[in-house]
Amino acid sequence: MPDLNFYLNSISRLNVNRNHGIPAPHKPLLLLAVIDLIEQGKVADNKIRPSTEFVEAFLKYWNLIRSERPRIFLPFYHLQTDGFWHLHPTPHGTIRPFGSMTQTAENVSFASLDEKLFILLAAPKTREIIRHKIILTYFPNEKEIFHAAVSENRADFPLKKLLLEPDAGRPETSPDKPKRSRLFRGLIMRLYNYTCAACRFRLVTLDGMTAVDAAHIVPFSVSRDNAIDNGLALCKLHHWAFDNGLIAIDDDFRLQISEIFDERGDEAFLFRRLHSKKIHLPAQAEDFPSLDKIRRHRLKFEPVR
Ligand SMILES: [Zn+2]
Repeated sequence: MPDLNFYLNSISRLNVNRNHGIPAPHKPLLLLAVIDLIEQGKVADNKIRPSTEFVEAFLKYWNLIRSERPRIFLPFYHLQTDGFWHLHPTPHGTIRPFGSMTQTAENVSFASLDEKLFILLAAPKTREIIRHKIILTYFPNEKEIFHAAVSENRADFPLKKLLLEPDAGRPETSPDKPKRSRLFRGLIMRLYNYTCAACRFRLVTLDGMTAVDAAHIVPFSVSRDNAIDNGLALCKLHHWAFDNGLIAIDDDFRLQISEIFDERGDEAFLFRRLHSKKIHLPAQAEDFPSLDKIRRHRLKFEPVR
């Protein structure tokens, strides 16, 4: 297949920034995100829009390997130099290097791939070959994690298995500790759909920032436990309140709110309003928090004084 070989060759020779000799992961990650969107039928017309849907597809992979701000606007613009990625301006937009995804979205209506490449990515067999090539070329040391992330929407979810084994007993300086922490964060964010389990606040910016944290139920410093059932997505305010024992969760996954604090302010932000409300949970029961761990957390909760 001449087209397939041509694009495999282009994709394995992406013009990536190599500061300090390490190739920047942005462009291959962008391609993995686009491939996922095509597979999910979200880019049926070869129009890749600079939307939060696209940003979340990118974050899925970015969160596996990096923890800093993703700067997604860089590959969105610079992938043009590789020949198969084209930007189409909005009616009053101009194509020039952008400083943010918001600015990108103001100027770019959508990006498109070469039609021949899009056809290859729309077909399952060639899509898999191209995806495999990207992972092996750019992420050879992380290939297990990437393949697990790719298949997470299928029957099983192998990424979770990588976290099942607790960190307990691993030395503090265990070389895979940062990797496991990133994996925990990335998975909790997506299982809870970037939504605070307590107040259901959800915010993801076009630049890939979110106001929601991946919180440990039993603190990691105590438990060394990065398993999914020791995690919850919480907004900054409720994460702080949860860590300080002002809110807890009962065995029916309902919120318990402490009465030991003085609370004033707009009703939208009240804590007590949330009392006995069910928390936001992942779609699958197997990903719910462990009852044992939420009971351990309740030990520091002081309901009424
Ligand atoms: Zn919240």
